[in-house]
Amino acid sequence: MKRLLPILLLLLSLTAQAERVRVRLYSTNNISTLNISFDLGYYNLYADGDQLLEDLVGEGRSVLIRQDGGKLHVSVNDDDYGLFSTLRLEATDTACILCINPAGCKQRTYEGNLEVSLLKGGSLQLINDVEFETYIAGVVQSEIYGTQTDIFRIQAIISRTWALRNLKKHAADGYNFCDNVHCQAYQNRCIRPDIMIGAIQSSGETLVDSAGQLIETPFHSNSGGQTANSEDVWRAALPYLRSVPDTFSLHMRQSDWVRTISLDRWLDYFSKKHKLNVADSAVLDTLLHFTQESRQARLMGVPLTRIRTDFQLKSTFFSVSVDSASLSVILHGHGYGHGVGLSQEGTIRMVGLGYAYDSILRHYYTGAVLHQDPTANRSHLENYTAQLARIIEEDRNRQTQVRSKKDDWLGRLFRLRDREERQEVYIEEEQDNEKDWQYEW
Ligand SMILES: [Zn+2]
Repeated sequence: MKRLLPILLLLLSLTAQAERVRVRLYSTNNISTLNISFDLGYYNLYADGDQLLEDLVGEGRSVLIRQDGGKLHVSVNDDDYGLFSTLRLEATDTACILCINPAGCKQRTYEGNLEVSLLKGGSLQLINDVEFETYIAGVVQSEIYGTQTDIFRIQAIISRTWALRNLKKHAADGYNFCDNVHCQAYQNRCIRPDIMIGAIQSSGETLVDSAGQLIETPFHSNSGGQTANSEDVWRAALPYLRSVPDTFSLHMRQSDWVRTISLDRWLDYFSKKHKLNVADSAVLDTLLHFTQESRQARLMGVPLTRIRTDFQLKSTFFSVSVDSASLSVILHGHGYGHGVGLSQEGTIRMVGLGYAYDSILRHYYTGAVLHQDPTANRSHLENYTAQLARIIEEDRNRQTQVRSKKDDWLGRLFRLRDREERQEVYIEEEQDNEKDWQYEW
């Protein structure tokens, strides 16, 4: 029998720079009540530090936490434990998944540990203490769409590079990252094996400059046909964030947009907010017939980024025309996002056209170098991706696509591994005879 390696321990050993991270979940939500259930494995529930309230909390148990007079009130099923300042659910091994269900928010599942405390305003603060690569895979799933592994590999590389460079982003708050786009979206654990393959294949890979330093790796949905210089959007002119032609971003979901704004509002904006003399025919002509064959940074001295923010436009890459019948200006725009660095839809297109993942990264990050951590063991990675590929193929061939929350690739891997740990004899052919094996936990 082939040896199946525990995925998370394997990945952990490959990431020397950061083993675990603390991520604040539901960071934009105000949470007063929270229900936690358990999809896989067992957790120990601690309060106020190391006070063990209940051990081996697992499936069938439900932890209810609510804010109560500046404290956390906690009960598990019908057992009322009272009031505490902090709570911690600690996973007993790597094969643990919990399901978080805050009142008024969408339910999500995560691996790793969960810490709950109260913020000054009375809202519950949820921190996921999780292995770094597990976090990266969750980010990739939240940040990009697509079907090809290299798309996920590329997103994993830039998300990993960003995370390693910004580990102290929320140091003052007591965690590393929040779970929204202020840092990187991390809206669930990764539940897709194809995404995990991309993340695993990228293990140990980061982008560095010629001096070997991690670079900033901004990305956006679609460049509209040309990426932007970093100094035209932010302050610093970074040598690897240069504007480049990007025809790969054309004819995609977010390639073009149109926005109609009343003539009065458009002209008022420039005359009142930016003190332009719109009675001057030359000024008027420019404001009403501004075009961008290639990206520009300003319109009559006003930064396009400012205009984008004030009118909530999808991008700064737009041209203006007048519709005299409706007394409006019509903005014809290209792309979605700030335009600096990597275009995600351009990446999706390039992968589809067969470009190699490293050449795609070099297209968007001028002169950047793909760094491979020399301690990453590629042969282990290849074994593991082969196992995942087999699981994807099995899923494809399964006659009935009955899904349950536990019937997913990660659970299956964990279960295979757990069998090994118990040193049971596992005969692959018998797997098919276990009609309900995927539901047996
Ligand atoms: Zn943040």
